[in-house]
Amino acid sequence: MNTVINPATEQVIAELAQPEAEDLDRAVEAAKKAAPGWRAVGVGDRARLLRRVAALIEENGEELALLETRNVGKPIADSRAEVEMVADCFYFYAGAIDKHLGDTIPVDRGVDMTFREPLGVVGLITPWNFPLNIASWKVAPALASGNTVILKPAEITPLTSIRLGELVLEAGIPEGVAAVVPGPGSIVGQRLIEHPDVAKIAFTGSTAVGRKVMESAAGTIKRVTLELGGKSANVVFADSDLEAAAGSAPSAVFGNAGQDCCARSRILVEKSVFDRFLDLLTEATKALKVGDPENPSTDMGPLVSAEQRDSVASYVDGEVAFRGEVPGGPGFWYPPTLLGPIGNDSRQAREEIFGPVACVIPFEGEEEAVRVANATPYGLSGSVWTRDAGRALRVARAIDAGALSINSNTSVRVQTPFGGFKQSGFGRELGMSALDGYSEVKNVFLSTEV
Ligand code: NDP
Repeated sequence: MNTVINPATEQVIAELAQPEAEDLDRAVEAAKKAAPGWRAVGVGDRARLLRRVAALIEENGEELALLETRNVGKPIADSRAEVEMVADCFYFYAGAIDKHLGDTIPVDRGVDMTFREPLGVVGLITPWNFPLNIASWKVAPALASGNTVILKPAEITPLTSIRLGELVLEAGIPEGVAAVVPGPGSIVGQRLIEHPDVAKIAFTGSTAVGRKVMESAAGTIKRVTLELGGKSANVVFADSDLEAAAGSAPSAVFGNAGQDCCARSRILVEKSVFDRFLDLLTEATKALKVGDPENPSTDMGPLVSAEQRDSVASYVDGEVAFRGEVPGGPGFWYPPTLLGPIGNDSRQAREEIFGPVACVIPFEGEEEAVRVANATPYGLSGSVWTRDAGRALRVARAIDAGALSINSNTSVRVQTPFGGFKQSGFGRELGMSALDGYSEVKNVFLSTEV
């Protein structure tokens, strides 16, 4: 039995049967059987079904948002915005699939055409921090491309993924085309990766498990895309709009209580404005409302589990520039915390804390900013704040990460590619790029001589 807990109250909100490896095998068998039929559905009909899923997500938006808030502990305003993005994601891929084009290539004695063919059954393994959102980034492009899918959500936050599975069926997508198997990663996830009838694994989670996914996928030469951890830099130059940079920095690291692979958890500040910036940042952090996630004005809720809270707490000793307050009583709370000035070689600046703890790191000049920003094994996202457009672009291009923002701290849009450099993984989700990851290129030569 899997007992699901509300992290704000520590109360049990659901009890689920625990799927075993054999249940996963049955889901793969059904997905394999359904694959030829789904692949044969025309792109127009597939798009209509995906639009129907999007509409059902909108119709059930409030229920999904509340379910996500109660299961993950994230503020209801954030859950509502995420559910909107989930619907947008299904609309986007409904509209994108007939624009994922092939080529006609001039060759001798005929013509060559390229086609995008589906892979077959694909396994989607998702984490607990943005359960429904990340599920949609994988399910929508995978189905649009003509694959059948098995979604394995994180065991502690499976509820919105299970509901998504129901809505997919309600939309009229045939049985077997999409299944949700919410079992433990070490059993159900592992079996999915090793299963000979699964063509690809799209994984989001920790770098440590990502490494295991690659190793286990080698046995069947499975396609793999990995979206892993991050330790992103938010680089603030002295000539930037300091009020805007400091005002937006807290949401970039304390959003989702810091449990965000894109968190700008290293705030690099040019020495000449360091003290002023730290004052502004402290004021903006103090203003965050930490508390009941179901209150629409809450900015930050609890962490997802006691284990995650204890892991975050183990990083905080010395160098505390500011520590916020949290509610008393039940719940896995940890206060928004600023560490600084702190060096980039400290353990706190090197490792992904995955909680509301930001390292504020001084630097001198553009060259040092780029060197420090890149001094990490990760490369997922990052920001550059400056009024000098040339420098903004130079620094954004020089940082080895997949999603950079200039004078902004946002990373994720349905229309644009998202993914990592270095140990943050490979492959791209969202935008047209995701469709490449759910299809194989085939070339067909047509002789003009016969
Ligand atoms: P994991 O990488 O362990 O979990 C991610 C997903 O992988 C879950 O669905 C999990 O299942 C599954 N999984 C775990 N082990 C295996 C396995 N051997 N084979 C197949 N699937 C497996 O992350 P955690 O949730 O434990 O978080 C730990 C740390 O990872 C965080 O503190 C953070 O640093 C990082 N992280 C990064 C994320 C990102 O967005 N890049 C997201 C989440 C975490 P289950 O949990 O059900 O066992």
